[in-house]
Amino acid sequence: MNAPSSLESITSFIPPHRVLMGPGPSDVPQRLLDAMARPTIGHLDPAFVEMMEQLKTLLRYAFQTQNELTFPVSGPGSVGMETCFVNLVEPDDKVIVCRNGVFGGRMIENVLRAGGAVAVVDDAWGTAVDPNKLEDALKANPDTKVVAFVHAETSTGAQSDAATLAEIARRYGCLTIVDAVTSLGGTPLMVDEWGLDAVYSGSQKCLSCTPGLSPVTFSERAIETVKNRKTKVRSWFMDLNLVLGYWGGSAKRTYHHTAPINPLYGLHEALVMLKEEGLEQAWARHRQNHEALKAGVEALGLQFLVKEQDRLPQLNAVTLPAGLDEAAARARLLKEYNLEIGAGLGDLAGKVWRIGLMGYSSRPANVELCLRALKGVMKA
Ligand code: PLP
Repeated sequence: MNAPSSLESITSFIPPHRVLMGPGPSDVPQRLLDAMARPTIGHLDPAFVEMMEQLKTLLRYAFQTQNELTFPVSGPGSVGMETCFVNLVEPDDKVIVCRNGVFGGRMIENVLRAGGAVAVVDDAWGTAVDPNKLEDALKANPDTKVVAFVHAETSTGAQSDAATLAEIARRYGCLTIVDAVTSLGGTPLMVDEWGLDAVYSGSQKCLSCTPGLSPVTFSERAIETVKNRKTKVRSWFMDLNLVLGYWGGSAKRTYHHTAPINPLYGLHEALVMLKEEGLEQAWARHRQNHEALKAGVEALGLQFLVKEQDRLPQLNAVTLPAGLDEAAARARLLKEYNLEIGAGLGDLAGKVWRIGLMGYSSRPANVELCLRALKGVMKA
């Protein structure tokens, strides 16, 4: 445990420079940090309101959607997740949750806390969600209202076929809630083309912004469902009916909460950078750097947890060599190379490393540093 600091000894906090190659946050480019250091203005200032409109347009581009209700929730990815569940799930509504890692498990918790009933479709950690299992579950549960799944499971590095899962859900008259925290900006995500209804993401992964914001988008079907609820949303802060007065439309803004002004400058800059690079180019960059890392880690004798066709380029889970003290090796990476990589989560704790190549962290210099550092610590 860290020793308590005496009040007198505390001065400004100067963080060390690290290279962030874990499951997020990813490296934040200086250009974005500079944007966040610009003067704070009022959150109802006309200049800020104009910036909010631009943010919505930029997010529609990132999500590939025309959805009017597309905005960043003031809170981390978990708040975006909870916003989707508390608004779309009413007491006793049935939700099928596809679980193939940690974050599917959190979705189950969200359904239960919203008062819903859950049917779980389980797949092994490190595999994609099996569409056939979802279809069987829908046949067995014809009263299902919502199907929820994680597009990019950060705990394992597996990517599921969101287009197919959403198509099945729609055929059975269900809405979809989709976790795109790790996919947005790093791998194709086509909200409108795939017919996704409620999608949430995070600022700190492939968008390379600081943590604490959760871009979300809702289809017309999802908004209609929220408007026609029989019961009040069980959260004042996340109730979309209220948030709409602040982020919705371009009519006069009414105070809902004080927006995190400077972090929103950062997200705006991150999305401008994404637009400048081009979405498809960003996806291609993530794939190229993944290929380079893959060649290197395989040359070191490490194996990938996920089979090639389901692998996420931005989150590489590799199994650990026998006998390696993985926590000590990660501590050395941090101390000697200033490099952060991720440990295994949940059932995979102590069994894998998770190497992130997300957003600004996805660049050849990082791949090269990571391979050199891994070689160093594994030799030691
Ligand atoms: N969903 C997924 C797939 C994630 O990877 C994460 C965070 O790592 C979350 C949800 C929660 O996001 P946050 O930590 O920003 O609350």
